[in-house]
Amino acid sequence: MIPFNKPYLTGQETHYIEDAVKTGKISGNGKYTKMCQDFFEQQYGFKKCLLTTSCTDALEMCAILADIQPGDEVIIPSYTFVSTAIAFIRQGAKVVFADSYYDNPNIDVGKIESLITPKTKAIVPVHYAGVACDMDAIMSLANKYNLLVIEDAAQAIDSFHVNKDGKKRALGSIGHLSAFSFHETKNIIAGEGGMLVVNDERFVHRAEIIWEKGTNRAEFFRGEVNKYGWVDTGSSFLPSEVIAAFLWAQIENIKDIQNKRNEIWDTYYDELSKLKIPSISLPVIPSYATNNAHMFYLVLQNIDQRTKLINHLKNKDIHPVFHYLSLHSSEFYKNKHDGRALANSDKFSNCLVRLPFYYELDIVEVKQILNSISEL
Ligand SMILES: *Cc1c(COP(=O)(O)O)cnc(C)c1O
Repeated sequence: MIPFNKPYLTGQETHYIEDAVKTGKISGNGKYTKMCQDFFEQQYGFKKCLLTTSCTDALEMCAILADIQPGDEVIIPSYTFVSTAIAFIRQGAKVVFADSYYDNPNIDVGKIESLITPKTKAIVPVHYAGVACDMDAIMSLANKYNLLVIEDAAQAIDSFHVNKDGKKRALGSIGHLSAFSFHETKNIIAGEGGMLVVNDERFVHRAEIIWEKGTNRAEFFRGEVNKYGWVDTGSSFLPSEVIAAFLWAQIENIKDIQNKRNEIWDTYYDELSKLKIPSISLPVIPSYATNNAHMFYLVLQNIDQRTKLINHLKNKDIHPVFHYLSLHSSEFYKNKHDGRALANSDKFSNCLVRLPFYYELDIVEVKQILNSISEL
């Protein structure tokens, strides 16, 4: 059986967890949390990183930091995971759905400006499959209308945006705030886990307080204040050292993990390009984006073709899966939507299928999957 996903363990996870346990400090914000945060800050140019228990949590922190009030509007793509929306809905926001591009599930920046109103507070681009949204265009819209940009970079670790001069910036380092996921389906994992990135200096101080239940505990432990108190809203957003120790083992192997994933991705792409199957479109990576090999997807021409492909592969014990139901057509969100048709989002809901993709997927198995696809 070839499953869709198989979480990869480097072998050092339990070693670091044991170390964390032996030091006797297993609550949050200890040695491993700091090691992970420092790594991300140095490696990717993030101003301030705070590990969280999920990307959903990190997005909730973003919504609090952005001071989203009832009635405020937040522009998000419809083709995304529900957390992108729910974090803002919980603060009372109205989410305004934007369509995807025709050939790329990311938010179509050409459709954003007409959705901006005096109530718009933020744009939340989602880097689908770890492929960059058009961040130059999004940041200039945000500048023009004085909006915040919150990157949902859940899938985008170790991926970059390349501007016209060839300058590379890590996804997650461009918006005012960003959120990453280390859920077991992502490139590097902690079971459940995530990270808030604060790039705008204005939010650094408050982020640390919200992270620790609205206390100034972090400042207290650094000796910056002589007592700590209840100073703001917040929640318990920080993970235990057990999670951070697990994540550290993954971070140590990030180069190897990324090389292997890229090799799998390239094999899928090169072989499918040669096969030239008329009913199948391959992922499009725009010139301003790099590829972090988060997933490999195909786009069929309609839902029947996709069902046929999925069933055909399942008969061969290969397990591909489709992805998001457009938020604007979903039970919870359809009455919150203004009724605009979002045809490209619906197309990806109906026609996109993700092939098995994980570190331990053997190239022989990739070839077997490709053979099965070619028989269709
Ligand atoms: C995985 C994912 C999330 C949620 O991440 P969690 O860590 O599970 O909360 C949010 N947005 C996108 C785009 C995702 O892929």
